[in-house]
Amino acid sequence: MITSQESNLQALVATNIDNLRALANSAPEGRLNRPLLAALGKELLPHLFPSSVGGVHDNAVSSTELCILREELGRLMPAAETTLALQGLGAYPILFEGSDQVVQEWLPKVANGTAAAAFALTETEAGSDAAAITMSATRDGDGWRLSGKKVFISNAPDADIYTIFARTDPDAGSRGVTAFAVPGGLEGMSGQAYDMVAPHVIGELILDNVFVPNSHVLGEVNRGFRVAMGTLDLFRPSVGAYAVGMAQAALDATVSYTDHRRAFGGRLRDLQAVEHKIADMALGIEAARLLVRSAAACYDTGEDGLTKKSAMAKLFATETAQRVVDDAVQLHGAIALRKGHVLEELYREVRAPRIYEGTSEVQRSIISRAVYAQLQDLVT
Ligand SMILES: Cc1cc2nc3c(=O)[nH]c(=O)nc-3n(C[C@H](O)[C@H](O)[C@H](O)COP(=O)(O)OP(=O)(O)OC[C@H]3O[C@@H](n4cnc5c(N)ncnc54)[C@H](O)[C@@H]3O)c2cc1C
Repeated sequence: MITSQESNLQALVATNIDNLRALANSAPEGRLNRPLLAALGKELLPHLFPSSVGGVHDNAVSSTELCILREELGRLMPAAETTLALQGLGAYPILFEGSDQVVQEWLPKVANGTAAAAFALTETEAGSDAAAITMSATRDGDGWRLSGKKVFISNAPDADIYTIFARTDPDAGSRGVTAFAVPGGLEGMSGQAYDMVAPHVIGELILDNVFVPNSHVLGEVNRGFRVAMGTLDLFRPSVGAYAVGMAQAALDATVSYTDHRRAFGGRLRDLQAVEHKIADMALGIEAARLLVRSAAACYDTGEDGLTKKSAMAKLFATETAQRVVDDAVQLHGAIALRKGHVLEELYREVRAPRIYEGTSEVQRSIISRAVYAQLQDLVT
């Protein structure tokens, strides 16, 4: 059933999409698309934030609303979807844990698309094993000095405000990490963009003794991992929603194409092999959407079981989307691989969500641990 919240958000995306699409190529290769970001800031980005920072909500965005927005934008324009989502991922640690001064200085600009946000956790030797990060933060007067390198950071090196996770206790693993809000362009900061399969700028960030005042610590010192995980709890189901949107676009294109494409004296859609493939694609998408919405509802209501549900939603939706897009390419034949075809774009963009915000293998480990924990509850 489509709720009124869902149809209102879909209508809002529909009224903005032509303008967003017109701005798709308005930045040089490998640079942040600021015109696109600004256009998102007019009506869509405010739906990610509370009114206290220029958004439309009383409080934080609900996970359900985030999922609806991400699915719809993912269906219509993956590049705009990613640009929108990164504003949330980079800014929510600040919203949840930042001082009033930092929140008010940065979040209104993030919400209206005049400042780009980024979330910087990954390092060369710390990807899935994020607790292994080594970027150091050492006390210096009324602040901290940060040194080290972050890699594969979306929106780096062009972002205006970063949430950066750095080590404040070398011997305490995940309990020795602190989150900081760090404006881009400070003395000692540098970086470079990678040439990657991604619809947005992504690169590395080097900090060489960069000074960050105490007021820019997010949450408690040595509790930065909690800040990261709290943000990912909100965003993980919505990565699944993005994948569902891309899969739906692939299915829609395939239904329309096989309805009129002729071969061997009939339409493709009349071949049973095609019918069954379409059925499996539709089934996978519907199941993925239900898992995503269930995880989002779990976050919104505070029910137990969020970690497992989010992992299931992200894993199933991103893996299903990969399969659906691949099947869609197959059912189109060669034409799908021409540059500029909707499936050529989807074939590129559908891959990365199986890797970021927790790989598929990591999600499986999370699910398995949760299942064994339930067994433990049953036997005790
Ligand atoms: C497009 C894109 C955007 C990104 N944006 C950001 C960003 O904005 N901020 C940020 O901080 N990071 C970002 N990343 C980095 C991303 O979070 C990491 O790539 C991810 O955490 C995986 O780390 P890794 O690439 O080092 O792979 P590794 O951790 O080295 O994993 C390699 C392989 O080993 C497997 N593996 C690892 N550990 C286990 C395990 N315990 N059990 C089973 N298998 C395992 C993995 O599943 C994977 O298949 C982005 C990545 C991409 C591709």
